[in-house]
Amino acid sequence: MFGSFGPYLLFVLPPFLLGLWAQRRVRVNFEKYSKVGTTAGMTGAKVARQMLDAEGLYDVKVERVAGNLTDHYDPRGKVLRLSEATHDSVSVAAAGIAAHEMGHALQDAKGYGPLVLRSALVPTVNIGSRFGTWMFMGGLLLTSFLGSQLGFYIALAGLGLYTLVALFSVITLPVEFDASRRAKALLTEHGILYKDEMEGVDAVLNAAALTYVAAAIQAISQVLYWAFILFGRRR
Ligand SMILES: [Zn+2]
Repeated sequence: MFGSFGPYLLFVLPPFLLGLWAQRRVRVNFEKYSKVGTTAGMTGAKVARQMLDAEGLYDVKVERVAGNLTDHYDPRGKVLRLSEATHDSVSVAAAGIAAHEMGHALQDAKGYGPLVLRSALVPTVNIGSRFGTWMFMGGLLLTSFLGSQLGFYIALAGLGLYTLVALFSVITLPVEFDASRRAKALLTEHGILYKDEMEGVDAVLNAAALTYVAAAIQAISQVLYWAFILFGRRR
């Protein structure tokens, strides 16, 4: 049904391997720098609280959330949720991650454009990622077995929905890069970390950024691969 494996190996496999490598780098760097304590000796929660207060974001709450690397900022509830490993740890990795999430809270407070756009896309993207794949596969099956024109348009609609998912992953990039940039600046500005402690923060946050780059490349490659299959059949 999908012809030769050539296009698959070209479009899908390299981005997938890049993603695996990026995730591994996150794990390795997180493990390494979660064992390195900071001079200030503040927990991730305290780092976040102090930075939020220093920037006047008193209404943003800091909470503990279960799970591994589940740290995130919730713009709707104005809550900064830190995983246990970040919330209660006094490590360089915890300070970096807490500061990064605080960077998202700051983006929200300042109405940072890419974050606003990203939040607005969330409901559509949820539908796209849920139905896009099934519509594409279903439509493709219809065209294969029934030769129907309708199948082609269903697959095309699935491709369109998935293109939105890819677009979302691209808009995520400036949001993530900007949060880390703000985090690094504020950590030294507020005297939470010394310059030589920033090496670990860089390593952890850069590795995390790479996973977002890999995810965006994966999504774009998926769109190209599907387009190649869909339009390749028509010729
Ligand atoms: Zn982030």
